[in-house]
Order: sequence, then C-alpha cells, then structure tokens
Amino acid sequence: MSLEKNDIVTIRIEDMGNEGEGIGKADGFPLFVKGAVPGDLVKVKVMKAKKNYAFAHLEEVVEPSPYRAVPPCPVANPCGGCSLQHVSYEAQLQYKQNKVRNDLIHIGGFDAEYIDSISEPIIGMEEPYHYRNKAQFPIGKDKNGHLVAGFYAGRTHDIIPNRDCMLGVKENKEILDIVLDHMKACHIEPYDEVTHKGLVRHVLIRKGFATGQLMVCVIINGKKLPKEDVLAEKLMQIKNMTSVSINVNTGHDNVILGKEARLLAGEERIIDKVDDISFCISPLSFYQVNSVQMEKLYKQGLIYADLKGNETVWDLYCGIGTISLFLAQKAKQVYGVEIIPEAIEDAKNNARINGITNAEFFVGKAEEVLPEKYAQFREKELKGEGIQTDGHASADGEGTDERQCKPAGYADVIVVDPPRKGCDAKCLETILTMAPEKVVYISCDPATLARDARILADGGYELIHVRAVDQFPQTSHVEAVCAFKRK
Ligand code: SAH
Repeated sequence: MSLEKNDIVTIRIEDMGNEGEGIGKADGFPLFVKGAVPGDLVKVKVMKAKKNYAFAHLEEVVEPSPYRAVPPCPVANPCGGCSLQHVSYEAQLQYKQNKVRNDLIHIGGFDAEYIDSISEPIIGMEEPYHYRNKAQFPIGKDKNGHLVAGFYAGRTHDIIPNRDCMLGVKENKEILDIVLDHMKACHIEPYDEVTHKGLVRHVLIRKGFATGQLMVCVIINGKKLPKEDVLAEKLMQIKNMTSVSINVNTGHDNVILGKEARLLAGEERIIDKVDDISFCISPLSFYQVNSVQMEKLYKQGLIYADLKGNETVWDLYCGIGTISLFLAQKAKQVYGVEIIPEAIEDAKNNARINGITNAEFFVGKAEEVLPEKYAQFREKELKGEGIQTDGHASADGEGTDERQCKPAGYADVIVVDPPRKGCDAKCLETILTMAPEKVVYISCDPATLARDARILADGGYELIHVRAVDQFPQTSHVEAVCAFKRK
C-alpha cells in the first residue's frame, strides 16, 4: 500500500520510535505519529509520505491505550522538553528497557535470549517529576510584546511560556519572576535571535539537591545588565541563594553560554553532594541533571566494577570527576580523562575538598591520552621499571601478582561514560590492548552503546550485565550501564 499526503487512515499503534512517537502500520506501511501511544487505535492524517514510511498527524484517539496518561503539565504538547508525558510512567520504563535490549540485539548482534538472561530491571524514579537540578530558560517576547520565559517548542526556537516547568525545581518560578520583573522595570529587552539585538538571552538555574544551594546565571548579549546590583540583591534574598552571576555571550549561534563570566553576588560555585562526596559546580560544569538517579547510576557502575580495593581504574570521559571520586573510595588508584580543561580543574578541586588523594586527572581526548599513557607504560615496563609497589620501583615486572600503585597506562578496570556518539574507535582499540579485567560502559545512547559493545565482544570481552537507569523521566532519553569481563 502506498499512502499520499492528506490520506486519512485508522491504525493500531504497536511500537514507539526514538523520540517517543507512536508507530503503527497501514497494510504493512509504517506510520510515525507524534502523541500516539502503543496500544492506541488512532485516526491519523498523512503529512509527509516517504518511500518506505510516512509521518502522520494524530486526528483522533478512537480507542485509548491502557498505557495512555493525562499529561499533568498544561504545555506538555507544544513544549519540546517532554515527549512522553502522555505515556504512563510504567510504560515509559518498559519502553526504555526494550530500547536498550533491542539495540543490543539488532545493532550489537547479541543473542536475544542471552541479553534477556543478563538484563536487570530498569531503575526508575519513585517521583518522576521535579527532578532536574538544572534549567536553562530562554527569554523572549510573545506576540503581544510581553516578556516571556519558557522552553523552545519542538524543532523551533519559538518560546512556549512556562516559568514553572514540572521537571524543574519549585524555585525556578520565583527566580524567573524576579529577573523578568527587573527587566520590565529597567526596560531591558530580551535578545532577538533574528536581529541579534536585545540583551537578555537565557537564565540558567542550578540547585544542589543535597545541599539546597541555588545558582542563577543571567546570560546576556553585552557586558553589563542595567542595575545588576539591584537584581543581585533581590535574588540573594531567596532562601539558599548561593551564587548570582552574569555570563557574556555575544555570539550569533545557538551556544547558550559564553566564555566570560562575572560574579555579582555570593560564591562562584555551588556545592552538591552525591552520597558522601561533595562536588563544586560552576555554571559551565557538566553535571548529571537528575541528582536522585545519578546516585543510583553511579552506584550501579560501582557494583559492576566490583572493586576489592587494590585495583587501578580508569574513568574515561570523567567530566568534573564525579564517577572517578566515587570509584576512588573503593580502588587503589583512579585516573580520569576529560577533554574540557575547566572540568579537569573542577575534578582536581573536587578530589581536594573531599580529601581524596588516589585520583589523578588528565586533560585531553580519551582516544589520545589513553594510548599515550599506555605507550609510556609499556616503554617503562620493557625497560623493567614498569611496576611500582607502594612507591618503590621494582624491576621484576614479569609475572608479578602485585597490583598496587601501577603507573598510569595500566588498568584493572576501565569505566567509560562517553557523550552520545559513543567511544572513538581508537579508544576502544586501546582498551582492548590494555586488556583490563573489567570494562563498565555507562551510556546515554543505546545505539552507540550496542555498536561499541560489539567491538568489545569481538575483542574478547563477555557482556555480563545490562541495566537501564531512567535519568530522564517524561522524555525519550535512555541511559544504561553494561558490564564486560575479559574472557
Ligand atoms: N562522567 C561524567 C561526564 C559524562 S558526560 C559525569 O557523569 O558527570 C561526557 C563527558 O565526556 C563530557 O564531560 C565531555 O566533555 C567529555 N568528552 C567528550 N568527548 C571526549 C573525548 N573525546 N575525550 C574525553 N572526554 C570527552
């Protein structure tokens, strides 16, 4: 069957696509329907027909799926932030678990029964709202010229006004009200992406969930905000407000934060805690947005690393050292690698404030630093100076069981937590050459995870555990942890 634009068909939704859209078939021809839920019987109108599939608009839910939910947020539909609020949380978790499973099978080429036998149930949230510790609200004007703060509509930069996002913290609204009132009182214009005129671009808000500390950073297309001291004073009156700053971004692209920052009041950074470890966070730092799930994710990673205390561990893509410091509590030595120099500065500082002395950090690409350190290690080893035990150089690298104080370049366990594009081929190749006993792979994209898992499996590693952790309820993002053991 071929379909054309404006055709109307009634279909049963059977599956969910990568962005949470419903997928159903009309005589075998797949249709992607935003807002439709697996199990729904829906009447849809074809909007765009391609050769092998089409996008269709949801006209009517003829028979609702049992997995359908009423979105609690009034702007859930137009807002580009949440794509799954209309799906029950239970079904969201099921979808995410299946996504990891199916990618490992179809992209990774693993046996379905085997994957089912090693998969553990997804870790969801008890309260799957108000979990984000960070929000970046674009500031603009509505059709009537009123100042608005909110989120971009899906695939556009139209702002859907919403100061009280259901994924965010309750303080967001109070902070935005103060900033927008100040803009109004001082006649400050929001930035216009088309003309590049106007001053205020975004308001970034962060909260340390464990400490309650709050940070506000106003991102402006200029050097100074009129009466910024007055604004800072008002913001500092909010309970637990710890940091108020300005970030200068005069660029014409979509990047939110500029390089130049200036503190208006309070401290440069806020502190948050995960378990017993404190982390200093700046406006620019990468920090997992879901504090509650972050702890569960790291703990799961730690379980899979199964450290006994004498291991040398690498944490590749370490950001501000969160996972590294978690691992350092249980390992002999941890080495972290991260591409952003400021994040490594934060990581070193975080080690210091926690009194952690067995973590060392390197700036650079994982695919460059790891091979470099490994080559240096091999060279030393060949010269017979490779193995150090408790600080003493020892010449008999050969056949020793000593696994203490190994220099950088050696690994018992390698943990990776790459961005969505996954690990670089050179990085995986080096991991295989270094042959650690275990590899723990934390991933925010099951497709690249599956691709890389296949490379590890072909290189002699057995995939022994798989577990998804829901870091992003109400959205289609999927996070997972896998454990590999050297055969
Ligand atoms: N493990 C950290 C950060 C994970 S996000 C945490 O849980 O908080 C992925 C990190 O990889 C980012 O900090 C990003 O800056 C970094 N990164 C991206 N490409 C990289 C590369 N090629 N080598 C090293 N780090 C990289």
